[in-house]
Amino acid sequence: MSHALPLPDLDRLCVHTITTRPWPIEVASERFAKAGVKGITVWRDALTGRDLARTGQLIRDQGLSIVSLCRGGFFPARTAGERTKALDDNRLAIAEAQALGAPLIVLVCGAVPGQPLAESRKQIRDGIAALLPECRAAGVKLAIEPLHPMYADSRSAINTLGQANDLCEALASDCVGVALDVYHVWWDPALEQEIARCGRQNALFAYHVSDWRTPTLDLLNDRGLMGEGCIPLRQLRAWVEATGYRGFNEVEIFSSRCWAQDQSDYLARIIQAYRDYV
Ligand code: ZN
Repeated sequence: MSHALPLPDLDRLCVHTITTRPWPIEVASERFAKAGVKGITVWRDALTGRDLARTGQLIRDQGLSIVSLCRGGFFPARTAGERTKALDDNRLAIAEAQALGAPLIVLVCGAVPGQPLAESRKQIRDGIAALLPECRAAGVKLAIEPLHPMYADSRSAINTLGQANDLCEALASDCVGVALDVYHVWWDPALEQEIARCGRQNALFAYHVSDWRTPTLDLLNDRGLMGEGCIPLRQLRAWVEATGYRGFNEVEIFSSRCWAQDQSDYLARIIQAYRDYV
């Protein structure tokens, strides 16, 4: 572990709306700003029934940067008609990001149970390629998030940073990069080299932190607060920052346990855990 790594910069702390899911976005942005958080990543479910431009302005008026919109993707499907529908939803996400003022959309790329992963990967590549003109016109970029292989059945056929880097290389567009989430990739023996490669490709667009609990009781909603698990967070941030990355460190925690707690206390613990462990 590097001892030269500086403590995490509070000015680079971003929290996802899903992390404090019980709070409506208006409450979350006010509480985040008051607590000294500087960035917010907005989940689309938090926008239901809102005027997007007005919500974006309200967030910026709190002094928060809108880091990204979560999420687009889910490109693979068994029929051409369903794949077209998926593309339409992604086009809607691009329009939403533009209206909100979010410069980036995180992609959970998708997979279909029983469909060969190679076919899903081809459909993912074709889907992202089809969106590039809209991205460029809207000034919105896309970040491929590799997901832990336990989600390869139905959530993403892109499961390692190496695969995400290959996809970025194949697409060769400055509109497409990677959202690196420690929860999904911490186990990968090629992680250090692939982070460096991602940096060389200028493709490291976002960095998400949480922790891996032992035992993990739910595949989706039992992520840990930083420091509660076994992910070597300081080591990973050192590798990320060695690429020159100085973007936000985004706290993204799906946790039924944490959502059941008092969210103000929880936010205070997030900030403490950010200082102590990220
Ligand atoms: Zn993530």
